[in-house]
Amino acid sequence: MRAEVGVYGAGMELAPVVIDRLVEEARRAQKAAYAPYSGFPVGAAVLTEDGRVFRGCNVENSSFGLTVCAERNAVAAAVVAGARPIAVAVVANGTAVAPCGACRQVLAEFAAAMPVILSTATGDGRELTSLDALLPGAFVFTRPQGANGS
Ligand SMILES: [Zn+2]
Repeated sequence: MRAEVGVYGAGMELAPVVIDRLVEEARRAQKAAYAPYSGFPVGAAVLTEDGRVFRGCNVENSSFGLTVCAERNAVAAAVVAGARPIAVAVVANGTAVAPCGACRQVLAEFAAAMPVILSTATGDGRELTSLDALLPGAFVFTRPQGANGS
């Protein structure tokens, strides 16, 4: 399922320095995580088409279902700034973790084959993959013919 280092979906490649920066930004975001229930802080950073980087961390809630993941918060930060994500890095403790299904679908809204960097906070076990490898067959809304008065 995971691509080899340096191979990304849709032919997009990230320079090692860009990968390092995204992981570092995700590490910084992880430090801001609000994870009192799971004790599992996660940080994410998205690279946008205009070269900016936006961070997100998980924000848990006592009503667990309202918890929002780091990846989706990073996407929201980018979008509110008028930017569109084209790559993402995710950092967690202990082991590199892939975005959950909900986050994969949210990321696919912007670049279905974006590079995905998975890393531990210490940088061990870094993995590079792509969103189309993690989420084949992503949902894409197609307005039915004749809907909405057209
Ligand atoms: Zn998620």
